Amino acid sequence: MNTSDNRPATLHNRTAILAGNWKMNLRRAEVRAFAAKLKGALGPRAAADGASPQVALFPSHPFLGTLADALRGTAVIVGAQDVHSEASGAHTGDVSAHQVASTGATWALCGHSERRADHGEGDALVARKAGAALGAGLGVMVCLGETLEQREGGDTEEVLDRQLAAFLDGVGVEPLGDALGRWALAYEPVWAIGTGKTATPRIAQEAHVFLRARLAAQLGEAAASVPLLYGGSAKPGNCEELFAEPDVDGFLIGGASLDPATFLDMIHRCGDAPASD
Ligand code: PEP
Repeated sequence: MNTSDNRPATLHNRTAILAGNWKMNLRRAEVRAFAAKLKGALGPRAAADGASPQVALFPSHPFLGTLADALRGTAVIVGAQDVHSEASGAHTGDVSAHQVASTGATWALCGHSERRADHGEGDALVARKAGAALGAGLGVMVCLGETLEQREGGDTEEVLDRQLAAFLDGVGVEPLGDALGRWALAYEPVWAIGTGKTATPRIAQEAHVFLRARLAAQLGEAAASVPLLYGGSAKPGNCEELFAEPDVDGFLIGGASLDPATFLDMIHRCGDAPASD
């Protein structure tokens, strides 16, 4: 449940996960209106623990509290798009994981490719941020994915391996094993984000199988329960065929999450689909 007592909501891959990354969009009135529409449309499903699908929203920092308050009493997860790697200090303009948690939000994104590109965030920093989020009691969704140049150069697996290893080594396999349900990966090929070009189901499945195998090498059987989301121009017209892939557990959605009707369309298309695991 989305409460403000800092208990992290958990995510599992038995039902679809639909996560909206609003990036630097929507103002307070729009955030409130979105929450009201979502609650109204989901009805009792919004309040049920174990609801299908599981829904998460990542607004801009100023509206974390607004959204968490508006969705209190529902199972919808509210999370931040980024956190600082330190708990507090002289970091003007940044926001710590503890501050995020104090708004009532319970998750955070780390390592989104726009943070990596716009702010030069490297793998080691992303891992420190993820560790800070988990340490503050938040769940964390770590984004990884290759650029077009890396894909065309045949380097996709090397890039995914490097990004994943930095996260696993940086946070630690044992703490991550203890925190199952409180972390997820979002495979987001950079060439598909905001471009309208979506990975084919085969490309997404291949990347997810690769990530799952790398996780299994470190975590054993527990790897099967780690949610692997796909992100990159996911929308109502392609989510069903992508979600039909056995290792695509849901979506991190940018553009198509901004309009409640489109986002709800995806929720309805994936929410009643059978679990893929
Ligand atoms: C994203 O920003 O995480 C994303 C996947 O964006 P879009 O759906 O717009 O490609």
